[in-house]
Amino acid sequence: MALQNIGAVPSLVTKIEDCGNGTCKTKTNVVNMVDIAKSLSRPASYITTYFGYELRALSKFDKETGVTLVHGSHDVAKLTGLLEQFIQKFVRCHGCRNLETEVIIHATIQLKCAACGCVSDVDMRDKLSTLILEDRLCRRRESTRPSFFFR
Ligand SMILES: [Zn+2]
Repeated sequence: MALQNIGAVPSLVTKIEDCGNGTCKTKTNVVNMVDIAKSLSRPASYITTYFGYELRALSKFDKETGVTLVHGSHDVAKLTGLLEQFIQKFVRCHGCRNLETEVIIHATIQLKCAACGCVSDVDMRDKLSTLILEDRLCRRRESTRPSFFFR
């Protein structure tokens, strides 16, 4: 089941996973999360976490397999709405609405547009903003890579 495209971003494809005999909890599998994340140049784990926050549900992105699961049964329209919110908050240029932006992380998070050069501020009150900053600090401590960007 798929909904309309958001620009060049693939439509969300989901599959409800249920054992059918009550031995496991119903989960929503976002089948093409990796493709969506790639089209936005953002880590799939962040979109998955955003879904979890907004739905108040457990969510998990498996780096090895690319499998994305959100606990509960969520319809594709609702998830597409959340994806649009994510794009609005963490991807789209506030100037020209272009989706090709680079994430700049200092004390705050900003989006630098590849098309118009506009630098947009990300809302730091969002829970995911806090997570992105914390994630960067952790990576800095444990990795030898000089800096962390989303690409
Ligand atoms: Zn722009």
